[in-house]
Amino acid sequence: MPEWRSQYRDVKKALRKGLQVDAFFVGKFAFSPYQACAHGCLYCDGRAERYWVEGEFDRDIVIRRNAPQILAAEVPKLREKGIVFIGSGISDGYQPPEKEEKLMPACGRILAEAGLPAAVLTKSSLVLRDLDIWSEVQARSGFTLMVSLITLDDRLRAEFEPGASPVEERLEALSVFRGRGCSVGVAAMPLLPSLCDGDGDVAALADRLAAIGVDFVLPGGLTLRPGRQKDLFLSALGRTHPELLARYEKLYEENRASGAPLPAYSRERQRRMEEIFKSRGLPIVVPHGVYRDRIPLYDEIDVLIRQLSRHYASSPKSSLRRLEEARARYQSWLLDRKKFFNRRRRMREEDLTAELKALASAAGWAGWLGNPKLAAFLREVIIERRTFDELSLQLRPDGPDP
Ligand code: SF4
Repeated sequence: MPEWRSQYRDVKKALRKGLQVDAFFVGKFAFSPYQACAHGCLYCDGRAERYWVEGEFDRDIVIRRNAPQILAAEVPKLREKGIVFIGSGISDGYQPPEKEEKLMPACGRILAEAGLPAAVLTKSSLVLRDLDIWSEVQARSGFTLMVSLITLDDRLRAEFEPGASPVEERLEALSVFRGRGCSVGVAAMPLLPSLCDGDGDVAALADRLAAIGVDFVLPGGLTLRPGRQKDLFLSALGRTHPELLARYEKLYEENRASGAPLPAYSRERQRRMEEIFKSRGLPIVVPHGVYRDRIPLYDEIDVLIRQLSRHYASSPKSSLRRLEEARARYQSWLLDRKKFFNRRRRMREEDLTAELKALASAAGWAGWLGNPKLAAFLREVIIERRTFDELSLQLRPDGPDP
């Protein structure tokens, strides 16, 4: 495991919020008590120059010791509620220094008391230490544990994720949180070419996750941004798997700023991974049943429409175009209203929700979205509060997931 050097740095702000909710992890607010990560995954995106500018990514860990105090001061002033997402590609709230610092339970208690829903993404079983606190968040407002896991092979895990918890411990964390009634999901990324992205490896992972009963899996391939991230990864690969080096150099020869491999490869692999997970009954997005009622209704609709575009990506071009046009119209309405909301300090979340409901009830709504079929679908979600099922692509007659 990498040794780290702690750097204590106070923050002035704890919660970050964009105009739109992140449709991938579905967090309304982003938060992290740490910067950089002692888990030291060899593929970590956080090593790229665009994120990290000082010191060594897996050794110089910034600890925001005053984060709980700042969070406690910010939470009562929030005019909108929504999921606080803790974890990102460039830090992990349960990385090794957290064992001593105990910033996560301090923050969890604040969220529980405020009735704010939360989601944690981690590669550490240390999250089990705070099971009772997150269970309380679950009971009051909803909690999702997301575990990042790319393989069932613990030797491969130790090689590429040296400071993270063993595979079985992470699977155990998923089972235990599920047993407490929390939603649980897996970020199966980055599935490494020729190491764990083959059909057999992905199917074994999918079978295991389906047996645990996870609510969703978010699969994704490896990106290698040119510079520090790509150089470090390829030099490590050259030492441990020299036979794969030429293949990786070819896959990443275009040196795209995003770090993506050759498009034909990533398209085909992504399609296969999604097919395999779905065939085991595992949705490949955070399901509507998991985030409904945990973010404002206007954000819920925004996320749902963006996810629909993904579900119907392989539909005939004309219907996809109509869906995209409706998505753009909704988004333009929402962003406009949010800018207004941000300027009117007296306006509350309920006011914006009421505006949306009034639109949904109005006879002209279908015309406004320019897509009567989508408008009728959304009306059932907004007014009748039905839940979308990502596998059947139908609205369920019942309410949210139990
Ligand atoms: S756990 Fe996440 S943030 Fe930490 S090193 Fe690994 S990939 Fe990066």
